[in-house]
Amino acid sequence: TAELMDGRVVAKSVRAETARRATAFRERTGTAPGLATVLVGEDPASKVYVANKRKSATAAGIADFHRQLPETSGEEEIAEVLETLAADPAVSGILLQLPLPGGADPGDLIELIPATKDVDGLTTASQGLLARNQPGLRPCTPSGVVRLLQEPGIPLTGAEAVVVGRSELVGRPMAQLLLHEDATVTMAHSRTRNLADVTRRADVLIAAAGVPGLIGPQHVKEGATVVDVGIHRTAAGLVGDVRTTEVAGRASRLTPVPGGVGPMTIAMLLANTVTAAEMQYPDSTAEGR
Ligand code: NAD
Repeated sequence: TAELMDGRVVAKSVRAETARRATAFRERTGTAPGLATVLVGEDPASKVYVANKRKSATAAGIADFHRQLPETSGEEEIAEVLETLAADPAVSGILLQLPLPGGADPGDLIELIPATKDVDGLTTASQGLLARNQPGLRPCTPSGVVRLLQEPGIPLTGAEAVVVGRSELVGRPMAQLLLHEDATVTMAHSRTRNLADVTRRADVLIAAAGVPGLIGPQHVKEGATVVDVGIHRTAAGLVGDVRTTEVAGRASRLTPVPGGVGPMTIAMLLANTVTAAEMQYPDSTAEGR
């Protein structure tokens, strides 16, 4: 039966390493790295996410610059806040919590975040740097997945990797990061025919479709590593995109939900914030990417 890959353990070591880097940055420059979280409205799930991010940042020695805006804020008000934070040298990283109220398109607002402060890696500039494999800030969830795979030394060079999902936040950058690790990458999505035929090729299968229980044993090659990015709240608790109990009989390694990819996302956000601070401070050498 598959070995569980514990994201809590890896996330803890990333957080500890980030706290050391934050201290070193503060000693060198006299100021701590700073993270600005921008929350528009009162969505309960978003409030919990932002509270967790702020708490973890503070624990890692990152200064907290939170901005709460009313539900009724127009694009101009949000833009003004983002521009002020973009110009503030104490703010290393800016995170606009999504979704915006009423499903407003965040596209133009995200572009107001400078690439050096784009800790979610969502701006066009950051996407371009990723596509070209140049130094920059990478989306937190996929970079957390890569870290989770690297920790136990799962071979990626030449490996068959299949990513299910092509979103801008997860699937697409995930595929690009795996490509930069020299995996042979296939992307599957909602229009893919015969999904199981595609996913059964995978040595490393990443499920990021946002469909509860989409991936069963028939989708998995014997001995594969299966990473479950999905998070769904059900009456029975949190579940992922993978039917874990059934897949455990075929996979060699598997991430649990909760306690797999989830904890890595926040850890990588903190690491990105320190990397951002290092990139902005002229005389410091950027560690990490
Ligand atoms: P999304 O809805 O933006 O994208 C889903 C992608 O999956 C799309 O590209 C779509 O083409 C594909 N897809 C949908 N149905 C499919 C099907 N039946 N077969 C194959 N492909 C299919 O979602 P997202 O933002 O990429 O998030 C995906 C999941 O990951 C969600 O469950 C989300 O909650 C979770 N998530 C987890 C974390 C974390 O920290 N663990 C972070 C972000 C998102």
